[in-house]
Amino acid sequence: MVRRAPSEQAGNGHASGLPTSRVAAVPAGQWVADAAAPRAASGGSRPSGACRSPRDHGSRPVMSPAAQVARILRPRTCGDDGGGAGPVAGSFTLESAGEAHVKAVSYRGPGDLRVVEKPDPRIEHPNDVILRVTVAAVCGSDLHLYRGLIPDTRVGHTFGHEFTGIVEEVGPSVRNLKKGDRVVVPFPISCGSCFYCQRDLFAQCENTNPNSELTCGVFGYSHTTGGYDGGQAEYVRVPFADVGPMKIPDDVTDEQAVFLADVFPTGYQAAEMGEIKPGETVVVFGCGPVGLFAQKSAWLMGAGRVIAVDHVDYRLAFARQYNNVETVNWREVDDIVAYLKEITGGMGPDVCIDAVGLEADGSALHTFLGRALMMQAGAATVLGWAIDAVRKGGNVSIVGVYGPPWNLVPIGTAMNKNLTLRMGQCNVKRYMPHLLEHIREGRVDPSRVISHRMSLDDAPRAYEMFAEKRDGCRKVVLYPGGVPRA
Ligand code: NAD
Ligand code: ZN
Ligand code: ZN
Repeated sequence: MVRRAPSEQAGNGHASGLPTSRVAAVPAGQWVADAAAPRAASGGSRPSGACRSPRDHGSRPVMSPAAQVARILRPRTCGDDGGGAGPVAGSFTLESAGEAHVKAVSYRGPGDLRVVEKPDPRIEHPNDVILRVTVAAVCGSDLHLYRGLIPDTRVGHTFGHEFTGIVEEVGPSVRNLKKGDRVVVPFPISCGSCFYCQRDLFAQCENTNPNSELTCGVFGYSHTTGGYDGGQAEYVRVPFADVGPMKIPDDVTDEQAVFLADVFPTGYQAAEMGEIKPGETVVVFGCGPVGLFAQKSAWLMGAGRVIAVDHVDYRLAFARQYNNVETVNWREVDDIVAYLKEITGGMGPDVCIDAVGLEADGSALHTFLGRALMMQAGAATVLGWAIDAVRKGGNVSIVGVYGPPWNLVPIGTAMNKNLTLRMGQCNVKRYMPHLLEHIREGRVDPSRVISHRMSLDDAPRAYEMFAEKRDGCRKVVLYPGGVPRA
């Protein structure tokens, strides 16, 4: 493993040429109580040098989502910047580069992952750090990539957006981290100072995803989110290192901290967007890790009743055990919408949370149109159920992922029922310090969600098992350094 000297060269994620002086850590903010939910908005004044409007970065063309989709659907390989020409010859970041030093997961096509040697990541900007990855989880969102459902997922890309690591190398302008620090890194890469970051909308950062009008840069996702290599590797480059990574205190283990990168805050944001009032009934569709943390967070926010829906019995059983929720296997009732109304006094629940997203089962029509033909952005089955089941004037919160262009969603029903729909990618950084306190106080132990600990070398098997829900798989964590003995 050869580590190189830092260079001043800007890499992806710094395409706006953002000077380092603009990079300022955003204060973590104060929380009163979970039941009081939203925290005070972060300070009104913008630091000097911050963007004046979301359009300040004039070099990026403004495109409609539809135009973007057409553009990004062109096949490419890693290294093509997406800016014009087709695949760039010789741009693979694979073994062929001749300087392979680190082991990393490498995407070869739908259902085909391998662990290969890749060039070790370098400091490409003064505010980068290089982490030695200690634990990298596999997320439900990785499965969408793995199954080839996300446009512009390039051959050779390394997945992984939920990881902890130890700082190995530090860019010259990094102030908040030093070599040896143990950190957890939010999946959205954010600059901390643009219009959106200043409003805590870190997942919409303007400076980290030059290719898209939608969402920010994300580790280990497709090139629609910037093409950053992810953390399912021995080492990973972390841009804007003064902004995202959070140090892990000594009394918290990597396994307890790693889900602060994604699924715990995502579940928490799902419950927060549901605007749950004390005593209300909340239905959470999905008992994957995101659904599990949405259920737990619904209790933290004062729900009176939490009902979890899935069709995988071992997942429903774990939801009962971990979260003490009522459960329903939708396959075992005639009509899940009618059933949910029936068990909530005929009105329907106050809040429905979609923690499933585009790969939902349960509707032949949606599955055929959304997953087989790809004529809509995934199967909007659960979204339809949520809108139909929730009571009039209720809230629907969506964190399950959907593709951008369009879906067959019963929007007329939502309108006529006076529903509030809230949704989004998780603004992870906003929640991390608060959720860390829940862990330290012993109210939540996220590591109990882990069902499998595997070596990075076993990543292809881990994906298969998680995707096929074999062997009671809930959540896999990969250890690049080998699985520690219990
Ligand atoms: P997962 O695949 O482990 O879990 C999904 C669960 O949904 C599974 O248990 C599956 O059996 C269940 N399911 C399928 N069809 C269903 C239906 N019709 N009704 C009820 N349950 C059904 O994934 P996960 O890691 O828990 O992630 C869940 C979703 O959240 C994914 O779409 C993922 O991409 C998304 N996600 C979003 C964000 C965000 O920032 N918004 C972050 C992380 C994950
Ligand atoms: Zn994720
Ligand atoms: Zn930003």
